[in-house]
Amino acid sequence: MIANIPLPARDGPFEEGFWSALDAGTLAHQRCRDCRRWHFPPRHRCSDCGGALAYEPVSGRGRLWSFTVVHAPVLPAFAPFTPFVAAVVELDEQPGLRMAGYLVHRAGDPINAVAPQSLTIGMPLRAVIQPLSEDVRWPQWELISEDETA
Ligand SMILES: [Zn+2]
Repeated sequence: MIANIPLPARDGPFEEGFWSALDAGTLAHQRCRDCRRWHFPPRHRCSDCGGALAYEPVSGRGRLWSFTVVHAPVLPAFAPFTPFVAAVVELDEQPGLRMAGYLVHRAGDPINAVAPQSLTIGMPLRAVIQPLSEDVRWPQWELISEDETA
C-alpha cells in the first residue's frame, strides 16, 4: 500500500461503473451496445458508431504493450518505490484497448519488485485488483506464463 495517493475523481459522469467494479474486485470497461467495441478511458458515446455504452466485465487478461522505468515519479507518494516499472497493457478483448498499471510477480507484491530486464513486449499478464491505498483500488498485472493463458 502507498500512503498519500491523491484520490481519483469518482464523480465523473461516465466512470462509476469502472470504479464500482474495482471496489468489487473485478475489472470492467465500457462496451458499445450497437457495434460491441470496447472503450477505455470512459467516454460518453461510442467513438466508432455513436452508440450507447454500458459497462461489462473483461477477462482480466492482456499482454505487455509498452513499459518505462520510473525514476522520478510525478506523485511524491511513489518516490519510496523508485525505480519501478509503469506498464501499458493491451487487453485480450480488443486490439487498442489499453490501460496503464504496475507489474507484479504475485498479488500483494510491491510495485517495484519486477526487474525491467525480465520483461518482453507481448508477454502475457493477468489483472489482480489490489488496493494502492485505503481508498484506491487499481489493477496490477501479474506476469504469467504462456501456459496460463489457456
Ligand atoms: Zn459503437
